[in-house]
Amino acid sequence: MSSINKYNPLCTADPHSDTDWDTAGLLYHALNFFFQRKFGVKVRKLSLDAGFLCPNRDGTSGQGGCIFCDPESFSPSRRLKLPSLTAQIEEGIRHLSPRKEPGKYLAYFQPATNTYAPTERLRQAYEEPLAHPRIVGLAIGTRPDCVSKPVLDLLEEISRKTFLVVEYGLQSIHDRSLRWMNRGHRAAAFFDAFDRTRRRGIHVGAHVILGLPGESPEDMIATARELAGLELHSVKLHNLYAVKNTPLAEMVENGEISLPTFDEHVRRAADFLEHLPPRVVIDRLSGDAPPQYLVGPAWCRDKTAVRRAVEAEFRKRGTKQGSRFENRV
Ligand code: SF4
Repeated sequence: MSSINKYNPLCTADPHSDTDWDTAGLLYHALNFFFQRKFGVKVRKLSLDAGFLCPNRDGTSGQGGCIFCDPESFSPSRRLKLPSLTAQIEEGIRHLSPRKEPGKYLAYFQPATNTYAPTERLRQAYEEPLAHPRIVGLAIGTRPDCVSKPVLDLLEEISRKTFLVVEYGLQSIHDRSLRWMNRGHRAAAFFDAFDRTRRRGIHVGAHVILGLPGESPEDMIATARELAGLELHSVKLHNLYAVKNTPLAEMVENGEISLPTFDEHVRRAADFLEHLPPRVVIDRLSGDAPPQYLVGPAWCRDKTAVRRAVEAEFRKRGTKQGSRFENRV
């Protein structure tokens, strides 16, 4: 399959090709590989905080927020002190590339709910990074119950001008798990948002947490199988991890729940990827937090070890991403 790649005219291959990552010797469709193919240079995601809030904290969708989310990130004092987005980009580039390596960046609106503001404010926030010469597109993280028609109109307009992926926090397709983590929405909200977004030609990503209490390996595979039936751009996997000052941290400290072990997460990540179509880009295999905030598990600080162990698990099984994908279309 080939198509014209407007970002990287030297490359005529489709960056979503089912097999290119495979022939390059990878075991899953890694984000770095996708970026290199699409843009022709190394591209990294650069996290930006536009100071948006969250409807799961102010009572619009729910109160108190998700049990794993740090309330400190929403304190007014912190938000008032935020530097401009351009200043955050410059600082982010210095941090990610201290030796001034060449390369481009995807502006990643990461903390909070990045479609939760009047559309004119959203427009200003989304357009500011695009004026920077080293930004090649946007990734916008948000909740699936927070994309109104005017917001989708704006996102569609932007997606016609630049590379854009809207990343929805799904976490699990099981409503009992969403209730447990106080998400303030059901799985149906994700499928509805996916449908309305994808119909406009916008790339959609999904965030999933593996290792939620009460979810069996089959339950996690059920989430993978549901996602496999969608035309998703990307999936970001998180292991369940706890940060300080959250209800989740309290549960861990009280011994109410235990966090997944390294080996459990590796097996679950491999199971999950085996059920996804080869074309889906894997944004990451595990989540982590800075050491000063992390309660556990400590192993998630070493993302390279997780990646190597997932690859070793694939080799041991003789499988890779898509090995157990069933095309149900
Ligand atoms: S994780 Fe996202 S949706 Fe949940 S409370 Fe935090 S910002 Fe809101």
